[in-house]
Amino acid sequence: TINNEPGWNFDNSYSRLPNTFFSKVKPNPVQSPDLVILNEPLAKTLGLNIDALTSEKSIEILAGCQAPNEAEPLAQAYAGHQFGHFNMLGDGRAMLVGEHITPEGKRVDIQLKGSGRTPFSRGGDGRAALGPMLREFIISEAMYALGIPTTRSLAVVTTGESIIRETELPGAILTRVADSHIRVGTFQYVANWRPIEELRNLADYTIQRHYPESRVDENPYLALLQKVIYRQAALIAKWQLTGFIHGVMNTDNMAISGETIDYGPCAYMDDYDLATVFSSIDREGRYAYGNQPYIGGWNLARFAETLLPLLHENEEEAVKIAQDAISEYNKIYQDHWLAGMRTKLGIFNKEAQDEALFTGLLKIMQKSGADYTNTFRSLTLGKFEGTSVFDDQEFANWHGQWQERLNRQKESKESVNELMKSSNPAVIPRNHRVEEALVAAAQHGDYSVMKKLLEALENPYAYTENQEEYCKLPETTGTPYRTFCGT
Ligand code: AMP
Ligand code: MG
Ligand code: MG
Repeated sequence: TINNEPGWNFDNSYSRLPNTFFSKVKPNPVQSPDLVILNEPLAKTLGLNIDALTSEKSIEILAGCQAPNEAEPLAQAYAGHQFGHFNMLGDGRAMLVGEHITPEGKRVDIQLKGSGRTPFSRGGDGRAALGPMLREFIISEAMYALGIPTTRSLAVVTTGESIIRETELPGAILTRVADSHIRVGTFQYVANWRPIEELRNLADYTIQRHYPESRVDENPYLALLQKVIYRQAALIAKWQLTGFIHGVMNTDNMAISGETIDYGPCAYMDDYDLATVFSSIDREGRYAYGNQPYIGGWNLARFAETLLPLLHENEEEAVKIAQDAISEYNKIYQDHWLAGMRTKLGIFNKEAQDEALFTGLLKIMQKSGADYTNTFRSLTLGKFEGTSVFDDQEFANWHGQWQERLNRQKESKESVNELMKSSNPAVIPRNHRVEEALVAAAQHGDYSVMKKLLEALENPYAYTENQEEYCKLPETTGTPYRTFCGT
């Protein structure tokens, strides 16, 4: 028998929260939806039927033309500090179709991005262009394969309609899968404009959904704060360790689940430089590579402020509790970063001087403008070529210190090499490769370049031959790479 049901299994707990948390929205039909990419492995883990998912009716669902049975589409309300300035925001071009329950019983948000106007759209058209939606697909799936917590991408459909940006561009809709879309900004919205009962409601819901073990804590709201701090510190350490630059770390783009969310102007760094910024609108470098850990702490302090009325009935006490929790962030971050650096350099145990060893290498890399990924890849392969770091006269000295460090531990050369291989990706989604794939797909309808790139990124720690061409650096053009949001 042919199963023609895609297998959606919706239960929308968010829609049962106070109706001030969202706005119900109606499907927004588009002219001629066409499925251009489907993430089959992800569809399978979600328990969805691939054949049925590619049927005309299913594509209409992925294009937001109709809502599946039992789904109650909504746009979420939230606020956020955008480049430090507090604003009321909300899903202006996204629709939460519903929460899908996977065969393993996991609850995930199914969200359409680019699905049309909502009550939160302000002046925007609610739409998205094909290029940026494919870009989110590539980078979020690469992040997943790298082992970095992230929202995922199930599908991209084109709408058959043009959208107007600087030029006319093909419109598209991305289906995003997330543990949830609850953000620091969601708490900011409720804490600022809604009564405390609703804030408690949101906090209880979030604990139940993401940190259920904390319900029985003496102070569950403090436990919530501590767990979010922990997950964000761990997440941002992973970004730093792989050279990922988010680009727009506004508080509305920081997920309470600890997943990387909102792939707009993000990009991977080539040359190691703490000041690296790709986003065209980040003129002051607020979200520069080297500033991300600091901004993470800043955003978490904004989160802590929203919880004050729940942390303690006495305001002074509440502030003290919040400050104590926030003051842990730097150490948690630093511990994760140090642990990650140890694995990148094949180190199994801790020594007090490790941090100096790591910063010693990074200083030489910064000075010589060495490619971040390829430096660690070359060290892993034991081939001291391919990046400028090896030509620096300080490198030999550093290398000697590193070898002495490795000799002070009992693990074999083979174990060191294995650890390094599993910690240093051979490939990352390099900007020039991503751009090349997007031009072929979005401008010429040729998806083969993107599919090949996705294949190479599927197992970034494999060190296979077919990955080698993706390790090559871009030819220097003299113009810095720039990314854009809101397109
Ligand atoms: P972002 O920079 O992607 O985090 O978006 C910031 C805010 O702008 C969010 O509230 C988005 O929903 C909204 N937004 C971005 N693009 C559009 C658009 N084309 N139409 C309506 N709202 C948008
Ligand atoms: Mg956003
Ligand atoms: Mg965005």
